[in-house]
Order: sequence, then structure tokens, then C-alpha cells
Amino acid sequence: MSKIVVAGGGWAGVAAAYAARLAGAEVQLLERTDMLLGTGLVGGILRNNGRFTATEEHIALGMDGLWAVIDANLRHRDVDFPGHEHADLYDVTTIEPAVKGFLEEQGVELQTRTRVSQAAHDGARLTAVAAADRWFEADAFVDATGSFGPQGNCTRHGNGCAMCILRCPSFGGRVSLAQEAGIAELRATRMDGTVGVMSGSCKLHSDSVSPELRTQLADTGVAVVPLPPELQAGKTEMLGAKACQQYALPEFAENLVLLDTGHVKLMTPFFPLDQLRRVPGLENARYEDPYAGGIGNSIRYLAMTPHRADLRSETITNLFVGGEKTGPFVGHTEAMVSGSVAGLNAVLEAEGREPVILPQSLAVGDALAAVGEVMRAGLLSRKLTFSGSWYFERMKDKGLYSTDRDEIGRRVLEAGLSGVFKKAARADGVSAA
Ligand SMILES: Cc1cc2nc3c(=O)[nH]c(=O)nc-3n(C[C@H](O)[C@H](O)[C@H](O)COP(=O)(O)OP(=O)(O)OC[C@H]3O[C@@H](n4cnc5c(N)ncnc54)[C@H](O)[C@@H]3O)c2cc1C
Repeated sequence: MSKIVVAGGGWAGVAAAYAARLAGAEVQLLERTDMLLGTGLVGGILRNNGRFTATEEHIALGMDGLWAVIDANLRHRDVDFPGHEHADLYDVTTIEPAVKGFLEEQGVELQTRTRVSQAAHDGARLTAVAAADRWFEADAFVDATGSFGPQGNCTRHGNGCAMCILRCPSFGGRVSLAQEAGIAELRATRMDGTVGVMSGSCKLHSDSVSPELRTQLADTGVAVVPLPPELQAGKTEMLGAKACQQYALPEFAENLVLLDTGHVKLMTPFFPLDQLRRVPGLENARYEDPYAGGIGNSIRYLAMTPHRADLRSETITNLFVGGEKTGPFVGHTEAMVSGSVAGLNAVLEAEGREPVILPQSLAVGDALAAVGEVMRAGLLSRKLTFSGSWYFERMKDKGLYSTDRDEIGRRVLEAGLSGVFKKAARADGVSAA
């Protein structure tokens, strides 16, 4: 049985670990904090716009087990908000223990409070990684350590540590496995060319908004609160600094868009507290993430790994990347799609088999190809997501966007890839696409 080590337990690492288990490997998932899901601990939006198609393709490809856990932890389904249709919102409080339990049931060995900080390699292959003084050997590795911070970068490229869910002071900052393996990584830029991209939403304590807003959010999942004109100044520029270009729309500068994920998700990178409390219904507002959401937010996309179409790093043949490591690829769905391919291909590499490259007749394959294009061309201000901005337009232009589950299932079938993630455990089960 091949052995795979996954570094980083965000959505990419979770999907990589599950996919590698489905493919029959022994899997260790190393996470530096005491919780899985990384930035997903404060996210929640799924299936908005093209993410619907990507999700249903991912399910048809055989990742339905993970999606069933997620779907059992939704607070709202089929929510529309400005520029976004048919969103689902997961419950940020119940999702993490549910995913942790699921991975344990699947036989993934979870090692939390285990921060990878060293790698043993010969420039071509990685043999082991170390966290503190413990070494973990494997046949192949997945780097899913994300691209956020750490604190020094949030100060250098943002407004300083705003005390976000990533909790660098407590658990130590992010360490890139790829960098430890000697790989030169790339950093994304904002639309104006400056380095680093600010995370695009804050969370308010749900008891700190007015009872009327709370009721509306509980009933519908969404509230669009018009901003008094005097508070709109400078908000368009603030949206330009966001990782999530799908939300850089005038409606998000003229209103506060609130979503119910358990927290009240405020769709803006930060918002001065004194101004926020001048908005009707938010007179007592209090930040839950980041704690200093009145000042700033985490900075991301500072460690993206040049990679090949099978998500293998360009230089280390048994190191695969998922999630934000793959490029300016934004979102949970995006992290799960890339993470799962990285996990599967790590197993195929360990067993000397051909990797799977998802075809561009599927949105998930086309998006992974697009991430590669963006990375190779150095177009690192172009954030990529199924849920909006230029990549969603490309999906529509190529006829890839669909909300018809039968049609999506048919496309996966026609690509010969139905249940591909479950077939790799059989020696003859996967053929390269
Ligand atoms: C505030 C916020 C809100 C968001 N909201 C949404 C949303 O609603 N919907 C959506 O689709 N997307 C959302 N996103 C984007 C989305 O969360 C990310 O793009 C995606 O989840 C990234 O997943 P990842 O696994 O690549 O990285 P991360 O989530 O960053 O996970 C990386 C993990 O690796 C761990 N790690 C780092 N270094 C090491 C190491 N050396 N050893 C071991 N572990 C390590 C970290 O602790 C972390 O758990 C949001 C992002 C933020 C910051």
C-alpha cells in the first residue's frame, strides 16, 4: 500500500486526504492548528454561480462522500444575493467536527498541532517532512498549506495582523512545504499591481445585529442593507484589494451584503467599526473574525507553486499541490477540486501509474487548465473562481455552465470519468484522460 502525507488541513488538504484514501493509500494529514478547514472555518458559500456546476461534476467524479457531509451541514440552500445565484451556505460551527469525524471514519490519520517546517529531498524527490522533531516519510506528498500570511506578510502587504481564524501567534505561521523543498514560489498581486490580496469578508457575532436583521437572516440567509451615502466613500477602492473579484461589484460598495453562515458574514474585507455602527441594525455590531475586522484582514496568495497539468510541482516529481497553492484559485470548491486531483495523482505517482488530467470538456478540468495558464503567463492579478469574474464568463462562453444535474452527470459519463476517484483503488481502474 502506498503512503501519502498531506500537509495542511484546509479544504484542499481534506479533499486530498479523502481522495488518496479512496485510491487505496495509507494517508497522514498534518495540520498546524487544532482544527481542520483553515480559511474554510469562516467561509461557507458554496454552489454560487458556476460553483454549482463544478460541485455537481465533482460529485459525479466520485467525491460524493465528502459532499454528503457538507450538504448535511448547510444552513441555507438556493440563496440569491447581488451578482450570485443559487448559493448554499454551510454552518461554520458544525462543519469542522463533521468533516473531522468523516475523515477519521475513512481511516485518514489526522495529526493536528503538527506544523511541517522541514523537508528532506534531493532536488527531484521528497522523502520525508518534519514537524518539530518528528519526521513523516511517504511515497508522495501533497502541499495544501494555503497561501495566507503569516503575520509579517499581513503587516508588510496589509494593515497588520487583524487576528484572524488562522491564529498565527498561537500555532506558528504558515510554512510552505514546497518552499522547504527548494521550490521558488509566486505571489499574486492586486489589480493595481501591489503584492498580496486581502481576504474578502468579515464575520460579525450574530447576537450583535438587530433582532430584525437576525430574523431576516435566519429566514432567508441574506440581508442587503443600504449604506448611508456618506459611508460609501472609498468602498469601491477597498473592493479592488479583495481576493474575491466576484464580489467587486457596485452593489457591494453601495450596500452591506450580509449572509447567515452561523456568523453574520459581512461581504467586505474590513469596515471601520465606528462607521459600521452607524448603519441601521448594526448599532451594536461586534467582529468575530477577524477580531480587528474594523482595521484589516488576512493577506493571501503569497505562496503559489509552479506546477504541471497533473498538479505535480514542476521540480519535485512526487510533490503535488492543491487549493491556493495551485495559483490564484479562490474558494472552497476550487480547493476541494484541486486538492482531490492532487491527492489522487499522488497515489498514482506513488504506484508508478499514469496521472489523471481532467479534460477541458468539464468545468473542473477547464478551470485547472486555466490556473496553469494564468501561472505560466504570470497574470497573477487575475483571480480565478467558478463563482464570478472572468473565469465564470469563460465557463459560460464555452458552454460549461449548467445547473442541470442530469446534464452534468451525462458530461462526466461522456468523458469516461464517472466515479473516477473511486476507481483508482483498482489497479486497472483509472485511465489517463
Ligand atoms: C475570511 C474568508 C472567507 C472566505 N469565504 C469563502 C466562502 O464563503 N466561500 C468560498 O468558496 N471561499 C471562501 N474563502 C476562500 C476559501 O476559504 C479558500 O480559497 C480555500 O478554502 C483555501 O483552501 P486551502 O485548503 O487551499 O487553504 P487554507 O484554507 O488556507 O488551508 C491551509 C491549511 O494549512 C495549514 N498549514 C499551513 N502551513 C502548514 C504547515 N506548515 N504544516 C501543517 N499545516 C499547515 C493551515 O493551518 C490551514 O489549515 C474565504 C476565505 C477567507 C480568508
